[in-house]
Amino acid sequence: MKRIMSENPFVLSSGPAKQGRVSKDHCTRRRPPFDTARRFASRLLRANGKFAALLGVVIFGLTPHAARALNVFACEPEWASLVTALGGDNVQVFTATTGRQDPHQIQARPALIARLRQADLAICTGAELEIGWMPVLLRQAANGKVQPGNPGYFAAAEQIALKEKPIRLDRAEGDIHAAGNPHVQTDPRNIQAIAELLTRRLIDVDRANAAVYQQRGAEFQTKWKAAIARWESAAAPLKGVGIVEAHKSWVYLADWLGMRSLAAIEPKPGVPPSSGYLAQLLTEIPARGAKLIVYAAYQDPRPPQFVSEKTGIPAIELPFTVGGTDAAKDVFSLFDDTVGRLLAGLSARP
Ligand SMILES: [Zn+2]
Repeated sequence: MKRIMSENPFVLSSGPAKQGRVSKDHCTRRRPPFDTARRFASRLLRANGKFAALLGVVIFGLTPHAARALNVFACEPEWASLVTALGGDNVQVFTATTGRQDPHQIQARPALIARLRQADLAICTGAELEIGWMPVLLRQAANGKVQPGNPGYFAAAEQIALKEKPIRLDRAEGDIHAAGNPHVQTDPRNIQAIAELLTRRLIDVDRANAAVYQQRGAEFQTKWKAAIARWESAAAPLKGVGIVEAHKSWVYLADWLGMRSLAAIEPKPGVPPSSGYLAQLLTEIPARGAKLIVYAAYQDPRPPQFVSEKTGIPAIELPFTVGGTDAAKDVFSLFDDTVGRLLAGLSARP
């Protein structure tokens, strides 16, 4: 569809113009003589009436019901990448946050409200990760389609069993995630399960393209399973490695790779460490055999780096999501980079 919508549809659809010299510059489009265009169009009509009809819709706007891409609002970049992989040209994705932003703390800007108002489908982590901003956006956007409970709202973390569900709900315990730890995207097995459910959801909200979602979903699952096997075999040396987390973001990653989370630099979620707490940490974590300190790209690197300098334990910045690091360009390279950085940190140890 997108390729057809050029200023001159015949050029891109039919390849380089046959008449006249072909320009050496790939970007130069030559408008074929009218005759060529007419011959091409009638050939198309004979060859594929359906395609030609579609071409007519695009060029001449013959029908007001021309198919348009599903408008998707993704709260975080990992879901934007996933839905792009699953939806292809059938989805048009807006990402509300970047990998360098703290997804717990986003401002409900008017630009985000405007985007949500136009969305057919919103994909968020859910499980209260966006509790500080998404309810405001949903209220202000007043878009019935994407309200929680409707098919147009998909909460990724709520599709799977969450870890670290608090026994006691008390704000004195910090910025606690009452529903459990929502940072599920750090385990690719979670992404696999979420992808399957998201495929079903895409079919629910855009039945006309069900076959495409079905096929893309199956292709994704095959590629993803192969990638998991690759990551797991590369990450074998990380099994049993003790880590210190800056924020409690890595429980799913640690469980997947068999790493042990020994402590967090934040004494309570969202609460920065006091000097007393840090002092205690500095003596405890080497004694407990911590080998890596991990923190997300969006986080303040100073506390983990301070702990690293004092203990000699390498502090590793991990992308946490797509765009957190330059190498993490999509959900696949997110894990390539995460595993690569952990292994590099392990071999960099003194
Ligand atoms: Zn959190």
